Amino acid sequence: HTVSPFLEPGPRTKPNSLAVLQLSRDNFVPVYLQEASGEHDGYVEGAVINTRYGSFPHSTLLNVPWGSQVRASKVDTGSRGRKRKRQLDEEAGCETSEPIEDENEKGNSNGADKEHGDGDEAKQLVTDASGFIHVLPPTPEIWTTSLPHRTQVVYTPDASYILHRIRARPGSTLIEAGAGSGSFTHASARAVYNGSPVEGKRQGRVFSFEFHEERYHKMKKELSDHGLDGVVTLTHRDVYAGGFLVGGKSPEADAVFLDLPAPWEALPLLSRQRPQLKEGEVGEAGAKPWVSPLHPKKSVLLCTFSPCIEQVTRTVSALRHLGWVDIEMVEIANRKLHTARDRVGLYLPVDRGVNNSAKDVEEAITKLTEIEERFRENARPKQSADGTEPAKQESKAATNGKTPMNGAALKYPWLDGRLVTRGEPEIKTHTSYLVFAVLPMVWTEEDEAVAMAKYPLGR
Ligand code: SAM
Repeated sequence: HTVSPFLEPGPRTKPNSLAVLQLSRDNFVPVYLQEASGEHDGYVEGAVINTRYGSFPHSTLLNVPWGSQVRASKVDTGSRGRKRKRQLDEEAGCETSEPIEDENEKGNSNGADKEHGDGDEAKQLVTDASGFIHVLPPTPEIWTTSLPHRTQVVYTPDASYILHRIRARPGSTLIEAGAGSGSFTHASARAVYNGSPVEGKRQGRVFSFEFHEERYHKMKKELSDHGLDGVVTLTHRDVYAGGFLVGGKSPEADAVFLDLPAPWEALPLLSRQRPQLKEGEVGEAGAKPWVSPLHPKKSVLLCTFSPCIEQVTRTVSALRHLGWVDIEMVEIANRKLHTARDRVGLYLPVDRGVNNSAKDVEEAITKLTEIEERFRENARPKQSADGTEPAKQESKAATNGKTPMNGAALKYPWLDGRLVTRGEPEIKTHTSYLVFAVLPMVWTEEDEAVAMAKYPLGR
């Protein structure tokens, strides 16, 4: 049982495990951390990540608590070291010698913008050590924004709503097709994961299908690298023809997610009864006896994800024919809200930021500057030149006649100011239409007898 860093990252980074380096607000780089391989021919650092914020030897990123801020290191491999490093990188199939470009400089949180030396290779690994990055555990949310795109992917606002609506929870069994780039697969694997295996506890499973051979192989490797083999079973198949059984057995799914160009082609194979065969039809629909991939004793929840309304219409029509109920279409219109403290507004003498003259604004800014200066003064370590304890000095400062305008602001400057929220003026992207439906459990005489025995009426 390998524990996936996506499911149980533990408290600290580990060697040979996936970590995500956050270079700036929206720039994440997934990295497999490697242990330093010792001193080789003058080269001591092992693998190094080069970014425009500086160089980060893996040794500085290993065994640190997740979320740590790591400062860039001065790294000079020298010419012999560079040669050796190239050899080591080639042996390890590692691509860390090239600088990783930060495509999105907006929102750069650390302000360090170190260009790597042009022409002179040696300079590429000698950076000054003023930049920093954060080391984050891999999560489905971060993976979705940093994964190698092989197809359109399902983004977090849609994935989280879908998983909630199809009631994916620890212990659920999901069918997913197609797997594509695996964005939804990662989110669903975490949703159904039910902790380390324990006798008698139902483990959640995702049965995922992909018919594109290259995508299937890439995803298979990714799942295994991410330690998700135990939760996700990926099958290479055209589900329109081949259906959803795995090794001839039913996954007994209680939820289904279809991100396919023609979901209505797959729906007949997600029935409880054998689909009607068309003339000369082969494949799973023709197999005898018919085995349903759905859970026999549960209502099954379904979601299909389609960009066009024509696809939705055909899907809804097929669902009605096949006995699905509670059919509903939803579109997620995700809008980002930017919330910040408006510090100037708080100190404006009139109207809290509305209809203020230039003089009012100037006065407010002067007051703010004063407060900031006093805050800095208070934050400075106290010299006990007069023999007073630092704590006593502080209380002296608070009562020396200059009462601060806002005590809380001095202590917690980030709580200072009015909360102001601005939304994006419009929704920029249409992702897809989500169609939800339920296939009720078939209630038999036997089920009724069991229920009556358990909950007798009128007694
Ligand atoms: N949901 C995925 C994600 O979040 O990364 C993206 C899915 S992508 C839009 C659709 C995928 O369905 C493609 O990779 C395609 O190869 C696959 N596909 C299309 N028809 C299929 C079929 N009949 N059987 C299995 N997979 C199919």
